[in-house]
Amino acid sequence: MKIIPFSELGIQPEILKAVDEMGFEAPTSIQVKTIPAILSGNDLVGHAQTGTGKTAAFGIPAIQMADKGSKTPSVLILCPTRELAIQVTGELIKLAKFTNGVFTVPVYGGQPIGRQLNQLKKGAQIVVGTPGRVIDHLKRGTLKLGALKLVVLDEADEMLNMGFREDLEQILSYSHGKSQTVMFSATVPKTIRQIMNRWMEDPEMIKIEGKTETAAGIDQFVMEVRDSVRTEAVSRVMDMGNFKLALIFCNTKRMCDNLVQELQSRGYSADALHGDMNQNVRDKVMNKFRSGQIEMLIATDVAARGLDVENVDVVFNYDIPQDPEYYVHRIGRTGRAGRSGMAITFSSGRGRKRIKFIEKIIRTRLKPLPMPSVREVQISKMDSHIEDLLDTLNAGGLREYIEQIEPIAEGDFTPIEIAAALFKMRVERA
Ligand code: AMP
Repeated sequence: MKIIPFSELGIQPEILKAVDEMGFEAPTSIQVKTIPAILSGNDLVGHAQTGTGKTAAFGIPAIQMADKGSKTPSVLILCPTRELAIQVTGELIKLAKFTNGVFTVPVYGGQPIGRQLNQLKKGAQIVVGTPGRVIDHLKRGTLKLGALKLVVLDEADEMLNMGFREDLEQILSYSHGKSQTVMFSATVPKTIRQIMNRWMEDPEMIKIEGKTETAAGIDQFVMEVRDSVRTEAVSRVMDMGNFKLALIFCNTKRMCDNLVQELQSRGYSADALHGDMNQNVRDKVMNKFRSGQIEMLIATDVAARGLDVENVDVVFNYDIPQDPEYYVHRIGRTGRAGRSGMAITFSSGRGRKRIKFIEKIIRTRLKPLPMPSVREVQISKMDSHIEDLLDTLNAGGLREYIEQIEPIAEGDFTPIEIAAALFKMRVERA
């Protein structure tokens, strides 16, 4: 797996700074392919779905290409729903944090048009909107597309499914021949091809390759839990499986740091491995993990690139990887040297589509694994204490302890009751 840094994609320093602040460590594969292509002026179709980092894939070039400080918009982004329009606007505002003169304004139905008019009047360089509301503004003359350089159709197949074809074509007819057109779509049905042929100039097709295969001998599971319950799920799986070494992957550096704190406060020895740490610190963390001083290593994809530890019991995908290739690489950190391994990917309801996509590419079904209940964890803890008890009995050397217990056994309690009380103390303290 070759990792190309953001700095090699021709991105301006102000945007690189924002990307770093957002905790993105390396571009996703759709970003590697589309950012330079959009910046070089090509029309393109990104065959990618949500979760692949597609918003930044078009958002970064959009910010870079926008005419800073201009009164009329230079970028128009069309989205099927107001929720997506709001989400895209939020991501663009973060990406443009250090870029002067780029304002992003969302326009969508359901919000009073007056508010949007005011914002547009102040001057927006990037407009993100649903097709219906964009047409409204065009008709009123409150949105002018004369200076448009880039049009992005986000989730184009969804927009067609929702009956926006006519609106889209009307908008594209305004911009056709004057600006670059970029489209993202999870599927490429005939209707999408028709739009491409009619409104795009020799578009480049960009998709995530589907040629990855996973290693045999790794049990691959998906655990459906709400995002807020993931740390609890990690704890229960670790306690129940009596695992010694776990590798936990997050998509951003910031998420790694947060998770380390959460796990440490739950009493686990956990540490992070990511690109903000210098090589020296990384080597130290790695050595601690190898020698078992740290039981959980929380890493980004980039940091775990060269990771070579043989006895990782379990790999968690705390975040669903943005690329199936990352998935394969991540889970390949367990089940090494002929050992069996286990990989657990957390998914909330929203992640279901992305899991399906990964399954399709790796040609393997992830088995559903319910989150262990508190009771199950307790029972499994007891089992391991019983093993310890038997080991202690077999090892002998109990004389001085017998002397302490004997007087109690001669009183009101049976030896079984005394043993049970000691056992309870041990289980509850663990
Ligand atoms: P999207 O596919 O645009 O909906 O993005 C999914 C999520 O991935 C969003 O929360 C983004 O902020 C995040 N994201 C985008 N690019 C990267 C990256 N290079 N590294 C880590 N996270 C990213």
